[in-house]
Amino acid sequence: MSHSSSSRIQEYIGDPVSESPVVEREKLEEIFQDIQADLRYDHELNGCLNCGICTATCPAAHYYDFSPREIVQLLWTENLEGIHDAMQEKIWSCAQCYTCAARCPFGNSPGGLVMLMRETAIKHGMQSAKDVLRPFSRVMLKLISTGNQLSPDMITPDGFADWGPNVSKVDAPLTTLRQAIPMPTLHTTKTAWEVNLKTSVELYTIWEETGVLDSLETIDENLFDVICDIMDEKRDDYDDWLDEQDD
Ligand code: SF4
Ligand code: SF4
Repeated sequence: MSHSSSSRIQEYIGDPVSESPVVEREKLEEIFQDIQADLRYDHELNGCLNCGICTATCPAAHYYDFSPREIVQLLWTENLEGIHDAMQEKIWSCAQCYTCAARCPFGNSPGGLVMLMRETAIKHGMQSAKDVLRPFSRVMLKLISTGNQLSPDMITPDGFADWGPNVSKVDAPLTTLRQAIPMPTLHTTKTAWEVNLKTSVELYTIWEETGVLDSLETIDENLFDVICDIMDEKRDDYDDWLDEQDD
């Protein structure tokens, strides 16, 4: 069903015991319209039987206060307050495994809809997005500076406090162990593997053109500034390398 058809917006259903600050109706509509405006929306949401098959097969639903059925129902009934409320915490529980999409008899993709809600939460600079994504700032920094998401020197209990006690299982003498790998390019713990400078510069262009860097600026301005400096340096290095080839 196209979102351009008749509205299913529910009337206000307030929560008298909620401590959440009141959000203006206009803001709620703006957020929902941003979710709906995505090209994927009508593909991911076709209707909902409220059958609960998605929730029954969802791994996240087993461990968290989260239900893909609830997410789909909120969107299908255009429950603006419920959508906003779910974006404060629940949407970040999804593991993006898409088991739900494989099971839904209506061909919905609850996981895909969660992704749209997450992207919208980032676009609107919601605190939930900032809180959830903060631990990934070191990953983003590593990715921009080396082309690797993760390097061996990051895998320490201090570096991954959010992983819990199991990170101690990889707290090994990695500097020594990496020397045993036959490929010389892997004899470092600062990168997982070597990424070509041209590839890095091309990735920067992709991130700029697809709005990744705009999202980053919304979520973490300081990290954005650091990353822009690194990108400028890398681009200068690449230009120098090109000049050397011309000589
Ligand atoms: S499986 Fe599909 S139809 Fe059933 S509750 Fe989930 S989204 Fe709705
Ligand atoms: S994609 Fe998300 S909502 Fe769907 S089954 Fe996986 S964890 Fe659950």
